[in-house]
Amino acid sequence: MSHDSRRPAHAVETNAVHGPHVEHRGAVSTPLVHSATFTFEKLEDMVEQQRLDTAGSFYQRKGHPTIFAVEERLALLEGCEAALLFPSGMAAISTVFLTLLRTGEHLVCVDPCYGGTQALLAWGREHFGWDYTLVDARKPDTWESAFRPNTRVLHLESPINPTLAVLDVAAGAALGKRHGCVVTIDNTIASPLGQRPLEMGCDISLYSATKSIGGHSDLLAGAAMGSWQHLRAAAFTRMVFGPIADPAMAWMIERSLKTMPLRVRAGNANALELATRLTKHPKVAQVFYPGLPSHPTHALAVKQMREGFGPLLSFEVEGGADAALAVVDRLKVIKHGASLGGVESLASLAAFTSHQILGPEGRARAGIPEGLVRVSAGVEHVDDLWADLLQALG
Ligand SMILES: *Cc1c(COP(=O)(O)O)cnc(C)c1O
Repeated sequence: MSHDSRRPAHAVETNAVHGPHVEHRGAVSTPLVHSATFTFEKLEDMVEQQRLDTAGSFYQRKGHPTIFAVEERLALLEGCEAALLFPSGMAAISTVFLTLLRTGEHLVCVDPCYGGTQALLAWGREHFGWDYTLVDARKPDTWESAFRPNTRVLHLESPINPTLAVLDVAAGAALGKRHGCVVTIDNTIASPLGQRPLEMGCDISLYSATKSIGGHSDLLAGAAMGSWQHLRAAAFTRMVFGPIADPAMAWMIERSLKTMPLRVRAGNANALELATRLTKHPKVAQVFYPGLPSHPTHALAVKQMREGFGPLLSFEVEGGADAALAVVDRLKVIKHGASLGGVESLASLAAFTSHQILGPEGRARAGIPEGLVRVSAGVEHVDDLWADLLQALG
């Protein structure tokens, strides 16, 4: 397998199915190499594998054939040089932050961002003396004043859960660069198909591969994508701390990637259709979906998102939190659960789960209505999903 095999000679669907894999007598699926260590005839062969770093097969925590194949395919799909696969999205984000931040250094992060990322930053402050400032994602003109001479990282996320506000990724990346920062972005909600942050100036694109990349709600995984310049040090951190995806997980991700374009397009199309239909329902006060012309950041979404506007939509049920809870309780095809980007549609309640900790005032400040229902559209038939929402809304 050579690095040249990454050149995107084909369309994304073809690359997703036929991307780099370890050749083995015509197998269409990368052979799953369950081996914690590798043995050698000669010392020079062992030295060579060590020298190859993540591309070599020396000891599983440094790299192994199954993960290397899927990392090559992830990089091909993201359109970048390098990818690192992790056993969860938080393992990817924490390894990258551990790599980029030393004690006393500062990070600027959009707020709201994923709750786990906020927990990581608070933990890093307590244990490592990281410093950070949260900036309002909806007010980019306030971000500039958050930067300091010791700011090393700007961390972005777009769209933002659960109101699905979109921020200007290119403008954010340019601002971070002006302040000499490495710009990271959590691109989980859009997926590698739906948004290309590296082309908009970000340095490292981060994913919970548990979501659209894995796509079947049956595994946890994470990924970091970018250039080797930005990821080589993160590969070393992964080796030091040990959060590397094992062969079985890597193989499951390769299998999932083959259908990612098909799944993501189907989920995105369902989300747009459901959002559009919900705007006309009398029990629905507001619909939040970047693909709707009525959404405050629609123009920006059209400019920077691709292949639709993501699988997540939210809507406000008339009657507040209890009315929203009653709707979710009545759903049958759409299951009540807290993830996104899977083939199965899921609904969740911000006021009772992800944003409970904010309290009513905090939610009001963040623009999150009490009666908000968040739906991750899966790949079921849209008419079955719509019929389920109609009966649940009563
Ligand atoms: C789920 C999620 C994560 C965390 O990923 P895990 O795989 O659960 O560790 C990070 N960011 C976003 C936006 C997510 O949705």
